Amino acid sequence: MPRHYYIWTIGCQMNKADSVYLAASLEAAGLSAVNRADDADIIILNSCVVRQSAEQKVINKLTALRYYKKKRPEVNIILTGCLAGANQEVLREKFPYVGLFLKPQDWKIWQQWLEEQGLVPDNSTVVLPAGQHDVTAYVPIIKGCNNFCAYCIVPYRRGREESRSPAEIWQQVMGLVSRGVKEVTLLGQNVDSYGHDLSTQTDLADLLAELQQIDGLSRIRFLTSHPKDMSLKLIDAVAHLDKVCECISLPMQAGDDDILKVMRRGYTMEQYIKLVEAIRHAIPGVALSTDVIVGFPGETEEHYRNTYRILEELKFDTVHVAAYSVRQETMASRLDDNIPQEEKIYRLHQVEELQEKIAAEINACMQGKEVEILVEGKVRGKWFGRTRTDKLVFLKSENCRIGQLINVRIDSTSPWSLQGILQGLSCTVGE
Ligand code: SF4
Repeated sequence: MPRHYYIWTIGCQMNKADSVYLAASLEAAGLSAVNRADDADIIILNSCVVRQSAEQKVINKLTALRYYKKKRPEVNIILTGCLAGANQEVLREKFPYVGLFLKPQDWKIWQQWLEEQGLVPDNSTVVLPAGQHDVTAYVPIIKGCNNFCAYCIVPYRRGREESRSPAEIWQQVMGLVSRGVKEVTLLGQNVDSYGHDLSTQTDLADLLAELQQIDGLSRIRFLTSHPKDMSLKLIDAVAHLDKVCECISLPMQAGDDDILKVMRRGYTMEQYIKLVEAIRHAIPGVALSTDVIVGFPGETEEHYRNTYRILEELKFDTVHVAAYSVRQETMASRLDDNIPQEEKIYRLHQVEELQEKIAAEINACMQGKEVEILVEGKVRGKWFGRTRTDKLVFLKSENCRIGQLINVRIDSTSPWSLQGILQGLSCTVGE
């Protein structure tokens, strides 16, 4: 009977949330986690294929596991995540020692496999692994994506959008809260299209309003939005529901209409800018983050300058910038990857430098202000937590504990984090 499990995870928050679920169901069946694959009876690789380099890393790891299986034939090796989302026949042939290829969030097959192994979890406890005391948690609400952006592999590997029912999500959040979680982040490749595939008429704004009623839950966030799907109703929900944090991730990807069109993003820059204005008008103090790809096939100096200029104008709190790299099987892989690597890196560094300046300016405005943070932990003698706008704050205090909502006065800032002084317990929702 297997007693120990080991999970190796790379990739996005969806993968991290799935690994937490897998760990929780194994713990509910009586197994415990180990830190080395050598000591495990069940080895799970939770894979990412967003970049070719990530896929190669998974394949290397998977190849190395062949020897574990040779040494200990009773070991169970499981592949999940995006790599297991397609071409399972090919994978089976290439990695015959893998016992289960589990598509992301295919929990029916997972339950079935557990039962076949004689591992019957007590499902009432499948929320968090024992011993995990996080006060924040990710909750997937919709999987897959219907969009087929030209550079993205996700729809091919994770399939079409599939929303979880509000009742199932409610139950999971209730379970998390009963174990001390104070903040949940609702996850999806495109959370804004949550609910459109369900028979009951519901959407993300309705879900936020429902979850807002859960006693003991202090904060709700959601990731990632799509500019073409974000509704005024959702903006209004963020503005009016006091547990929903004023923090929105709105990937722009490029600041030029020609490039957006080739990327198949489904909006123009005019529409994007209007959306940002509407959000900022409705939600004062909102923090906006965005994603940008530089060096996309055909991105001229002028296209790139347009992106740079828009970033200068819109002043996001955070910009995640990536240099384009070809991802086989996507539509963009058929385009001429004509921007030299040095130029891509040059553009990437320019955007990073610009963003560092902007983030420094935005954060400097918080100097002397009092903000609420949720205490998440302690590192090198300092407590840390995040503001509602997702800014990382450190403070020295003898009087904190994890899970507390406290008020902190900011006394120094940098582009990446803030330092503060404890003012007292927060008297807002949740505590
Ligand atoms: S919206 Fe586009 S980038 Fe995001 S997951 Fe879907 S296809 Fe990929």
